[in-house]
Amino acid sequence: MKAHDGMYIGGEWRAAAGKGTIAVVDPTDEQVIAHVPAGTAEDVDAAVSAAREALPAWAATLPAGRAGRIAALRDVLVARKDEIAETVTAELGAPLPFSQTVHTGLPILVAGSYAELAASYAFEEKVGNSVVHFEPVGVVGAITPWNYPLHQIVAKVAPALAAGCTVVLKPAEDTPLTAQLFAEAVHEAGIPAGVFNLVTGLGPVAGQALAEHEGVDMVSFTGSTAVGRRIGATAGGAVKRVALELGGKSANVILPSADLAKAVAVGIANVMGNSGQTCSAWTRMLVHTSRYDEAVALAAQAAAKYGDRIGPLVNAKQHTRVRGYIEKGVAQGARLVAGGPEAPREQGYFVSPTVFADVTPEMTIAQEEIFGPVVSIIRYEDEDDALRIANGTVYGLAGAVWAGDEAEAVAFARRMDTGQVDINGGRYNPLAPFGGYKQSGVGRELGSHGLAEYLQTKSLQF
Ligand code: NAD
Repeated sequence: MKAHDGMYIGGEWRAAAGKGTIAVVDPTDEQVIAHVPAGTAEDVDAAVSAAREALPAWAATLPAGRAGRIAALRDVLVARKDEIAETVTAELGAPLPFSQTVHTGLPILVAGSYAELAASYAFEEKVGNSVVHFEPVGVVGAITPWNYPLHQIVAKVAPALAAGCTVVLKPAEDTPLTAQLFAEAVHEAGIPAGVFNLVTGLGPVAGQALAEHEGVDMVSFTGSTAVGRRIGATAGGAVKRVALELGGKSANVILPSADLAKAVAVGIANVMGNSGQTCSAWTRMLVHTSRYDEAVALAAQAAAKYGDRIGPLVNAKQHTRVRGYIEKGVAQGARLVAGGPEAPREQGYFVSPTVFADVTPEMTIAQEEIFGPVVSIIRYEDEDDALRIANGTVYGLAGAVWAGDEAEAVAFARRMDTGQVDINGGRYNPLAPFGGYKQSGVGRELGSHGLAEYLQTKSLQF
């Protein structure tokens, strides 16, 4: 795989300040495929300076001009879609068809949505005797995880640029090649020097330096709740804006009147896609006691069908961690009906699609985010019981409700403490706000709500 040996700062690839590197590993065969520089506080400082310098001109560029550059960026991503899909497959391990449709298709859709929103958004509003201007927050430090390498970047950078902000990105250690490709696309799209900058590096070094930098006006972070909590505290101490997209443990609530076969099939597919490495995955399936055994049989069948179609986990650490959770489920008395902790292949970080029955709400596998292809089926007695279980974790990112009648599903969804709910398998909407209740985060991404995160108001009175 092609890799740059420098950082993209101020519109050019510059040599890194230090000599350290990060090895990029293909999780399918555990081979090192590239090295990228491990950035230091010095690289972050150079990138933040470039972003600050570029800010006044980019903020003053008319929204139509910014929209034009974002549209050009979308076009470059489209032109280079095969290369993007191959890169994501190489460093994340996702099967190529999934990389093509989801890992490449989704960020192209989101970039396109922000090209349109930048052009149509009302950056000015009249309120009584005031005119309210929506102005960019300033320099944004964006810190992203590896699970959807390009989507996570585009979901931050596109709205930030649409708002008139400039950005320094620190992508995840496991997937820096996709981030380098994105930087190339930014360059090709003619986005002015310094508006977007990339520093690859380790989280506790480059990531922390970025979150703490006094030249950064806002930190937008997606990743684990543990790191998010720290970044939130740092941002709070410095009184800077922060957006946190954190973990999840979403419930797939199947009410007694639902089409059970469909609800189970879609529920299993929702978790197994991307090998369970999706923060919004419905990893807890809640089934009424009257249909429990039927649901378990259907889920076991659906998971077994996944077999070889599932990709590996991203790295050795996640491989060990996820298998540890499966062992813990067994130890706490849950019943394995598909998969298990044994690695299904000798090479690569593969985990079998796994389904647990007889899971009780307080078990570790029903409370903690596993981030692997593991579904827990939990029994409930009535709707209030289902609601108590659905809301009974520290998270609140997403969820699903299935019922024979849409109104019945909606009534239940309105009582859930969570940021997104799919009703009877509702379609994905890239314009709908995405983000968490409770410890799943602060702030929203995507659509106009995602754009508003990067704006601040100035009111002029007349
Ligand atoms: P992580 O928190 O370990 O890392 C995320 C990013 O933060 C990486 O770029 C990492 O280098 C950086 N980082 C690590 N330590 C840091 C520090 N001290 N200071 C600054 N930056 C630091 O998470 P991960 O393992 O890469 O990703 C998986 C997690 O992300 C899961 O918990 C998942 O739920 C969450 N996630 C949430 C969403 C969402 O939208 N809510 C989306 C995807 C993933």
